[in-house]
Amino acid sequence: PDLDTLDELVTHCRACPRLVRWREEVARVRRAAFREQVYWGRPVPGFGPADARIVVVGLAPAAHGANRTGRMFTGDRSGDVLYAALHEVGLASQPVAVSRDDGLELFGTRITAPVRCAPPENRPTPGERDNCRAWLARELELLRPNLRVVVVLGGFGWQAVLPVLHAAGWPVPTPRPRFGHGVHLTLPSAAGGRDLHVLGCYHVSQQNTFTGRLTPAMLQDLLREAARLAGI
Ligand code: SF4
Repeated sequence: PDLDTLDELVTHCRACPRLVRWREEVARVRRAAFREQVYWGRPVPGFGPADARIVVVGLAPAAHGANRTGRMFTGDRSGDVLYAALHEVGLASQPVAVSRDDGLELFGTRITAPVRCAPPENRPTPGERDNCRAWLARELELLRPNLRVVVVLGGFGWQAVLPVLHAAGWPVPTPRPRFGHGVHLTLPSAAGGRDLHVLGCYHVSQQNTFTGRLTPAMLQDLLREAARLAGI
């Protein structure tokens, strides 16, 4: 399928019984502030153009963020931090993400996640991560012709993405490099094309941003470097 078809297909996935139950339960009960809203309550597809050179990989939708709005990192504090930084470095048309129809556009950048359904406590099981791997693999395969940089937010994403890249033919070293903020892997293309750059970045969760472990300046610097490597 093409990317639009893949984005549509993933929203119907029910492969993980625990996550299906949770995402639907959260959508039914709702948080007081959003009680009048209709929650998405389904798997969340990637967001951004099909010819993106940069892919940002997170963890999984937040229960009252993307699981509510249906778009990656949209409608929660993590997204506020991420989109503000993307806008600051010229990769997003506006600094805020509120809903699927807020007019936000990404430039040369796509945001996705290794797990597409909101997990309880933001913690997918290894089995759920493995179930969802095929969706990420197919997405990266479709993006491959233009893909130059993968920005991985957090250790969970790192563990999920490297095997997918390895399976797709990029020579990820063994033992696998450890995750860290600012870690930069350069993977030569097996087909003799362009190198792929993989950048580790602390996740934009409140746990990191409230404590100052990840500051807006650190995030902007890393995204600026991603844009430079991508030739944007
Ligand atoms: Fe399907 Fe992924 Fe959601 Fe599991 S987490 S139900 S594999 S979309």
